Amino acid sequence: MARDYVNLVRHPDNAALFRAVEMSILAAHSQMPLHIHAEGLRGTGKTTILRSARSILPRIERVRGCLYNCDPTKPHCPEHAHLDETELAEIGTEWIPMPFLEISHSAKVATVVGGIDLEKLVNRAHPEAALLPGTLAQAHRGIVFIDEINRLADTSPELADILLDVMGTKPGRLQIEDAGLPTVEITSLVTVWAASNPDEDPGPLEGIRRQLADRFDLCVDVKRPSNHATVMAILQPELRMREWQAPEVQQTVAARLTGGLYRLARQTIATELLSFLAHIYLDHGLESLRALEAITLAAKVHAALVGKENVEKTDLQAVIPMALKHRTLPHVLADILDELNNFGKVAEEAKPAEAALAAATAPSSTVVNNNEPNQANRSFLSRLFASIREPAGEENESADEDLLPGSPQAALSPASTSQAKRTWLDASLADPEMVNIIAPPRPASALPDVPESRLVMGQTELERER
Ligand SMILES: [Zn+2]
Repeated sequence: MARDYVNLVRHPDNAALFRAVEMSILAAHSQMPLHIHAEGLRGTGKTTILRSARSILPRIERVRGCLYNCDPTKPHCPEHAHLDETELAEIGTEWIPMPFLEISHSAKVATVVGGIDLEKLVNRAHPEAALLPGTLAQAHRGIVFIDEINRLADTSPELADILLDVMGTKPGRLQIEDAGLPTVEITSLVTVWAASNPDEDPGPLEGIRRQLADRFDLCVDVKRPSNHATVMAILQPELRMREWQAPEVQQTVAARLTGGLYRLARQTIATELLSFLAHIYLDHGLESLRALEAITLAAKVHAALVGKENVEKTDLQAVIPMALKHRTLPHVLADILDELNNFGKVAEEAKPAEAALAAATAPSSTVVNNNEPNQANRSFLSRLFASIREPAGEENESADEDLLPGSPQAALSPASTSQAKRTWLDASLADPEMVNIIAPPRPASALPDVPESRLVMGQTELERER
């Protein structure tokens, strides 16, 4: 019996896999396979996490009794694809748990893909040649799990080829063929989960079958708890829950997934974030566009899991390490994450709430020492001045509500509407950003024209000059 998913210990070194699993279930439920590959040493619990996810799978509705899990609204199997609405209505539907099947290393191609249904063929009353769907066909709209996929890719190349086909497109294609029967091609919406130990023979999957590794949208590193504090927190359940994730949050996510309440629907990605993705693809020479497709789908699912409709930078920050780990070198990934971290920083600083906070908490020395304000500093200065000028406390209630203390508009607005209310301030106090700067009477000289004797001057000499 699989262990209950919500009771497994989640810590910083395995949390990414939990999140990836939840994202993948939500994607599968929305009929968009998000394939995941968990890499880690023995004893990291990666297979336990993956197998226990069975306990949080939602239910799906299918044409009653269909071994291919036909969606009643778009049946795809040889038996139901050609039926019309009334014929389908006669058969009826049923709700079943989302399929979770495992492909073992000893599996024969026919059991994975499908083949002649021997039982029907040797039936004395009604002998007929029919296809028996294999594991992949039966896992349509659900999940297939393959442990030690690096060994499978090495020892069973024909199974690896089948996976390449099924995972090549979304939805994938599955060809069922057997001697004497016409080949049947059906669509496959199977989500593939795999686990491997990169330190064991024959090595990491991307080393053996790079193409197959690239088929996985996300590749997640799972580690043992890596430091003293983590182990201590694991030993103290209350601390653990407070530190990493409140139990009720875990329960809620699991319950909402099980109940099929999450939906991947209207999540959108802003053009500037897409433009950032295009830039990393071009500038860092990512091998395949599949990487970008993986990032965009994963980011949408990540946003949907927390109930957001728009993908934000934080969603990209969460999914890019998983989407690029197996597709690029570690230092390139580090550069990309650095760029993402700095992306939109200036624009973000202009947000009123953050600005007010920054102005309130920043030590004043920061400002004094900034002799050469750059763009970011300039906006910081304007916010700071704005927050100083704005009355605090009761008087603030009468202030124009559109002009929050610290907002850039407050700093740059002509001192008209709000000035009358600033009774506590001398109205003649100049806004440092609005001051008309007049050049000094002596014109400046180009540096090469300045005589050496005047390049370094002391205070007294400067005063004498004036
Ligand atoms: Zn069917």
